[in-house]
Amino acid sequence: MAVIALEGMYFFARHGYYDEEQLVGNEFVVDVYITTRTTDAAVTDDLRETINYETVYTICQLVMKRPTRLLETVAERIGLGIRHQFGYIKSLKVRVRKNNPPLNGPVAAAWVEIDGQYEKRCGKCGKPLICYRDHTCWCMDSRVPVKTREHLRARFDDNCLCPNCLKFYEQ
Ligand SMILES: [Zn+2]
Ligand SMILES: [Zn+2]
Repeated sequence: MAVIALEGMYFFARHGYYDEEQLVGNEFVVDVYITTRTTDAAVTDDLRETINYETVYTICQLVMKRPTRLLETVAERIGLGIRHQFGYIKSLKVRVRKNNPPLNGPVAAAWVEIDGQYEKRCGKCGKPLICYRDHTCWCMDSRVPVKTREHLRARFDDNCLCPNCLKFYEQ
Protein backbone atom coordinates (compact mmCIF):
# COMPACT_ATOMS: atom_id res chain seq x y z
CA MET A 1 0.00 0.00 0.00
CA ALA A 2 1.21 3.49 -0.80
CA VAL A 3 -0.08 7.02 -0.64
CA ILE A 4 0.49 9.11 -3.71
CA ALA A 5 -0.19 12.81 -3.26
CA LEU A 6 -0.11 15.98 -5.25
CA GLU A 7 -0.41 18.98 -3.00
CA GLY A 8 -0.85 22.63 -3.80
CA MET A 9 -1.69 22.42 -7.48
CA TYR A 10 -2.41 26.01 -8.34
CA PHE A 11 -4.93 27.01 -10.99
CA PHE A 12 -6.59 30.15 -12.15
CA ALA A 13 -10.14 29.07 -12.91
CA ARG A 14 -13.69 30.27 -13.32
CA HIS A 15 -15.66 28.28 -10.80
CA GLY A 16 -18.27 30.10 -8.81
CA TYR A 17 -21.91 30.28 -8.02
CA TYR A 18 -22.39 33.75 -9.44
CA ASP A 19 -21.96 34.70 -13.08
CA GLU A 20 -19.65 37.49 -11.99
CA GLU A 21 -17.27 34.99 -10.40
CA GLN A 22 -17.27 32.91 -13.55
CA LEU A 23 -16.41 36.02 -15.52
CA VAL A 24 -13.63 37.35 -13.29
CA GLY A 25 -12.19 34.02 -12.20
CA ASN A 26 -10.27 33.20 -9.07
CA GLU A 27 -7.26 31.38 -7.62
CA PHE A 28 -7.76 27.73 -6.73
CA VAL A 29 -5.55 25.19 -5.04
CA VAL A 30 -6.14 21.45 -5.43
CA ASP A 31 -4.76 18.64 -3.27
CA VAL A 32 -5.13 14.98 -4.18
CA TYR A 33 -4.27 11.98 -1.98
CA ILE A 34 -4.51 8.51 -3.47
CA THR A 35 -4.02 5.33 -1.48
CA THR A 36 -3.32 2.45 -3.82
CA ARG A 37 -3.39 -1.22 -3.17
CA THR A 38 -0.53 -3.49 -4.05
CA THR A 39 -1.36 -6.06 -6.67
CA ASP A 40 -0.93 -9.17 -4.51
CA ALA A 41 -4.66 -9.48 -3.95
CA ALA A 42 -7.55 -9.94 -6.34
CA VAL A 43 -6.75 -7.43 -9.03
CA THR A 44 -7.24 -8.20 -12.69
CA ASP A 45 -4.44 -7.83 -15.22
CA ASP A 46 -5.70 -4.77 -17.03
CA LEU A 47 -5.81 -2.74 -13.84
CA ARG A 48 -2.09 -2.76 -13.26
CA GLU A 49 -1.05 0.55 -14.68
CA THR A 50 1.05 2.64 -12.37
CA ILE A 51 -0.38 5.83 -11.03
CA ASN A 52 1.69 8.65 -12.35
CA TYR A 53 1.71 12.24 -11.25
CA GLU A 54 1.45 13.63 -14.73
CA THR A 55 -1.82 11.84 -15.45
CA VAL A 56 -3.30 12.92 -12.11
CA TYR A 57 -2.26 16.49 -12.81
CA THR A 58 -3.75 16.42 -16.31
CA ILE A 59 -7.08 15.16 -14.95
CA CYS A 60 -7.17 18.03 -12.45
CA GLN A 61 -6.19 20.53 -15.11
CA LEU A 62 -8.98 19.42 -17.46
CA VAL A 63 -11.62 19.59 -14.74
CA MET A 64 -10.41 23.00 -13.55
CA LYS A 65 -10.70 24.42 -17.06
CA ARG A 66 -14.42 23.80 -17.15
CA PRO A 67 -16.31 26.59 -15.28
CA THR A 68 -18.54 25.03 -12.62
CA ARG A 69 -20.82 26.54 -10.01
CA LEU A 70 -20.03 24.30 -7.05
CA LEU A 71 -16.67 23.27 -5.64
CA GLU A 72 -18.29 19.94 -4.66
CA THR A 73 -18.91 19.21 -8.33
CA VAL A 74 -15.32 20.11 -9.20
CA ALA A 75 -13.98 17.78 -6.50
CA GLU A 76 -16.35 14.95 -7.54
CA ARG A 77 -15.31 15.27 -11.18
CA ILE A 78 -11.63 15.06 -10.27
CA GLY A 79 -12.36 11.99 -8.12
CA LEU A 80 -14.32 10.35 -10.91
CA GLY A 81 -11.60 11.08 -13.47
CA ILE A 82 -8.92 9.57 -11.24
CA ARG A 83 -11.00 6.47 -10.46
CA HIS A 84 -11.72 5.88 -14.11
CA GLN A 85 -8.08 6.22 -15.00
CA PHE A 86 -6.75 3.93 -12.30
CA GLY A 87 -8.41 0.70 -11.28
CA TYR A 88 -6.93 -0.11 -7.88
CA ILE A 89 -7.52 2.90 -5.67
CA LYS A 90 -8.16 1.95 -2.09
CA SER A 91 -9.09 5.42 -0.99
CA LEU A 92 -9.06 8.86 -2.48
CA LYS A 93 -9.22 12.34 -1.05
CA VAL A 94 -9.64 15.47 -3.14
CA ARG A 95 -9.61 18.98 -1.71
CA VAL A 96 -10.48 22.03 -3.80
CA ARG A 97 -9.71 25.40 -2.25
CA LYS A 98 -10.81 28.78 -3.49
CA ASN A 99 -8.57 31.61 -2.31
CA ASN A 100 -10.13 34.87 -1.13
CA PRO A 101 -13.73 33.94 -1.86
CA PRO A 102 -15.90 36.98 -2.57
CA LEU A 103 -17.71 37.33 0.77
CA ASN A 104 -18.60 40.33 2.89
CA GLY A 105 -15.25 40.39 4.69
CA PRO A 106 -11.73 39.03 4.34
CA VAL A 107 -11.66 35.22 4.14
CA ALA A 108 -8.43 33.41 3.26
CA ALA A 109 -10.01 30.39 1.62
CA ALA A 110 -13.12 28.30 1.22
CA TRP A 111 -12.65 24.61 0.54
CA VAL A 112 -14.43 21.37 -0.09
CA GLU A 113 -13.03 17.92 0.52
CA ILE A 114 -14.34 14.58 -0.68
CA ASP A 115 -13.12 11.32 0.73
CA GLY A 116 -13.92 7.87 -0.67
CA GLN A 117 -13.07 4.35 0.51
CA TYR A 118 -13.22 1.67 -2.18
CA GLU A 119 -11.67 -1.40 -0.65
CA LYS A 120 -14.28 -4.02 0.21
CA ARG A 121 -14.14 -7.67 1.17
CA CYS A 122 -15.36 -10.41 -1.13
CA GLY A 123 -18.68 -11.74 0.16
CA LYS A 124 -17.60 -15.32 -0.53
CA CYS A 125 -13.89 -15.72 0.20
CA GLY A 126 -13.26 -12.57 2.22
CA LYS A 127 -10.34 -11.40 0.09
CA PRO A 128 -10.02 -7.64 -0.42
CA LEU A 129 -11.36 -6.22 -3.65
CA ILE A 130 -11.83 -2.81 -5.16
CA CYS A 131 -15.37 -1.65 -5.92
CA TYR A 132 -16.14 1.90 -7.04
CA ARG A 133 -19.89 1.23 -6.98
CA ASP A 134 -20.12 2.22 -10.61
CA HIS A 135 -20.14 0.41 -13.96
CA THR A 136 -16.52 -0.72 -13.52
CA CYS A 137 -17.70 -3.35 -11.03
CA TRP A 138 -20.18 -6.08 -11.93
CA CYS A 139 -22.44 -4.99 -9.05
CA MET A 140 -23.38 -1.86 -11.03
CA ASP A 141 -22.56 -3.03 -14.55
CA SER A 142 -25.64 -2.79 -16.77
CA ARG A 143 -24.30 -5.61 -18.95
CA VAL A 144 -24.88 -8.01 -16.08
CA PRO A 145 -28.60 -8.85 -15.95
CA VAL A 146 -30.42 -7.06 -13.14
CA LYS A 147 -31.76 -10.38 -11.85
CA THR A 148 -28.27 -11.82 -11.57
CA ARG A 149 -27.04 -8.75 -9.73
CA GLU A 150 -29.99 -8.80 -7.34
CA HIS A 151 -29.59 -12.50 -6.72
CA LEU A 152 -25.86 -12.23 -5.97
CA ARG A 153 -26.32 -9.23 -3.72
CA ALA A 154 -29.03 -10.97 -1.73
CA ARG A 155 -27.00 -14.17 -1.55
CA PHE A 156 -23.85 -12.40 -0.35
CA ASP A 157 -25.35 -9.88 2.00
CA ASP A 158 -24.91 -6.91 -0.33
CA ASN A 159 -21.19 -7.59 -0.67
CA CYS A 160 -19.33 -7.68 -3.95
CA LEU A 161 -17.47 -10.76 -5.15
CA CYS A 162 -13.84 -10.88 -6.17
CA PRO A 163 -13.10 -11.78 -9.83
CA ASN A 164 -12.13 -15.32 -8.80
CA CYS A 165 -15.35 -16.07 -6.97
CA LEU A 166 -17.38 -14.32 -9.63
CA LYS A 167 -16.04 -16.74 -12.28
CA PHE A 168 -18.00 -19.48 -10.57
CA TYR A 169 -21.26 -17.66 -11.34
CA GLU A 170 -20.44 -16.66 -14.89
CA GLN A 171 -22.26 -19.26 -16.93
ZN1 LIG B 1 -13.72 -14.09 -3.50
ZN1 LIG C 1 -19.02 -3.80 -6.69
